[in-house]
Amino acid sequence: MQNEIVSLSAENTDLKKIKDIENRIERHTEPYITLKNDSIDILYCSCCWDYEQKLIQVKSYDSGKFKCIHCVNEGTYDKAKHEEHLQRERAVFRSLSERNRRNHW
Ligand SMILES: [Zn+2]
Repeated sequence: MQNEIVSLSAENTDLKKIKDIENRIERHTEPYITLKNDSIDILYCSCCWDYEQKLIQVKSYDSGKFKCIHCVNEGTYDKAKHEEHLQRERAVFRSLSERNRRNHW
């Protein structure tokens, strides 16, 4: 009986924590979440949260993409940044193929 009370009250504390986080969650069109009033705007995986109520910080790249190292969920957190990245990549590719052409002739 005592054990059951301890385990139920631990469960209750966990549920309160989850509820508390849930109230602070902000959803986005891409599969990541952020928390309201977070001073450093950490990005968390929405799949991990929805599936197991775990806040897993995603890895965000300079390309504007992010990836969860736990479940491999990925997406774009900044479309403008990603577009810039693609343009930079295309420019590099163009200058490389330009150089290759010159070397061939
Ligand atoms: Zn995840």
